[in-house]
Amino acid sequence: MPFKTTIGLEIHVQLKTKSKMFCGCSNMSENENGKEPNTRVCPVCMGFPGTLPVANIEAIKKTIMTGLALNCEIPNESKFDRKHYFYPDLPKNFQISQYDEPFARLGELQILDPDSSKSKKIGINRVHLEEDAGKLVHPEGAEYSLVDMNRCGTPLMEIVTEPDIDSPELAKKFLKELRLIVRYLDVSNADMERGQLRCDANISIQRKSEIRNPKSETNSKSKKPNSKTVTSPIIEIKNMNSFRAVERALKYEEERLREDFDDEIGDMNKKTRAWIEKQGVTKPMRVKEEASDYRYFPEPDIPPVLIDKKIKDEHGIMIHLIDIKRRMPELPQAKRERYKLLGLKEKAIESLVNKIGYSNYFDEVVEAGGEPQKVYDYMVNEKLGTKIKIKHMVEAFKLLNSGEISNKILKSILPEMIESGKSAKELIGEKGLKQVSNAEDLKNIIKEVIKENPKPVSDYKGGKEQTFGFLVGQVMQKTKGQANPALTNKLLRDMLK
Ligand code: ZN
Ligand code: MN
Repeated sequence: MPFKTTIGLEIHVQLKTKSKMFCGCSNMSENENGKEPNTRVCPVCMGFPGTLPVANIEAIKKTIMTGLALNCEIPNESKFDRKHYFYPDLPKNFQISQYDEPFARLGELQILDPDSSKSKKIGINRVHLEEDAGKLVHPEGAEYSLVDMNRCGTPLMEIVTEPDIDSPELAKKFLKELRLIVRYLDVSNADMERGQLRCDANISIQRKSEIRNPKSETNSKSKKPNSKTVTSPIIEIKNMNSFRAVERALKYEEERLREDFDDEIGDMNKKTRAWIEKQGVTKPMRVKEEASDYRYFPEPDIPPVLIDKKIKDEHGIMIHLIDIKRRMPELPQAKRERYKLLGLKEKAIESLVNKIGYSNYFDEVVEAGGEPQKVYDYMVNEKLGTKIKIKHMVEAFKLLNSGEISNKILKSILPEMIESGKSAKELIGEKGLKQVSNAEDLKNIIKEVIKENPKPVSDYKGGKEQTFGFLVGQVMQKTKGQANPALTNKLLRDMLK
């Protein structure tokens, strides 16, 4: 392939907090209650003059926690800045964001590259915290737009990667892993379809053309031919509302840049294009403002954020990393490694790691003595999920281990365990389900046992009563403990006569 692809992502994540970023209004962006427009607003988030913002500490902690999970450096001091621009859905005329002192920077995330199946390091440039804007609603056919300010001032975390992603597939994988991490941390529901996780992508392609230089060939030091790399302009793609859309849009753009490569390199300005989902294409959109247009300056109404400062500072917002670290759960990658040690297969590991509810349930049953792969099989192959109470599942696995019931029996009573909420023990007791009680089936098994054990049979017939127990045992073994003992005894005696 003569082309190399370079992709960087910019991801916005709506934080799960009770209140908005700088006021006491309810943060409804995470749960869809209270959808009635302009009902979750106050003078602060509507930008009335004379109001003062108060920073939401929980949102700061959640941002730093995400930074830690992404192996970032956390500075000892941070601050908020004003970023100026005017949109009708940003009535303050500026957005409180972070400019040169984000809460986290220079991290990395290891992603298994779908191409090489090797682990690839994706650098994290920064993680910062800002406030979201409201929403514009354009009623169909109307000559006006409506504005809903419920989302104004809700906490929004921005994550920017380094341009380390070299394929659309890897971009999708990275995003999925990032979503998993923020869900593990419980900092966001991160549902892309609902706009809780929004992703813009920058893509450019490079062509390496090798130039054979006759002079260098005579030079023993460098035998390599000189190569010149030509880069396309950087294209920013917006409006991708699902993981699939991110991958499709990037593939489309990668292909388009390759085809138009020679035309594109004339104008090296960064361009913005929108993904049109229905048509499966990207189209040019309005030009993005340059960073200098935003006239950033430090937000004068919010004190600096001081992280892990030994001496108390009355003028700063004090944050202690230990409080955040204590709250951090096991992360997806650590869980994968732990499951690998339990002997789970790759497919099982991925499906458990991707479902937090499943893996918590799995962990509890395994902790109580369930055999890992078997517990997984029951949860997934038997489509049990987490429907059976943990204590009932633990008890059922004990019955399995002790041989009181077989897999077959357990499987047969699972639907009733779910429906009635009763335990395996109760159901087996009630129904005598654990035994094979069909006389015809048992007779066939007993016939086999008699045939295979001529010596004990003749001993028994010769008056050696103890061998009868041995023969019953053989029947039990063949039926994996499911034979009804009373019936077995009766039939065996009859047939030995
Ligand atoms: Zn408010
Ligand atoms: Mn942003």
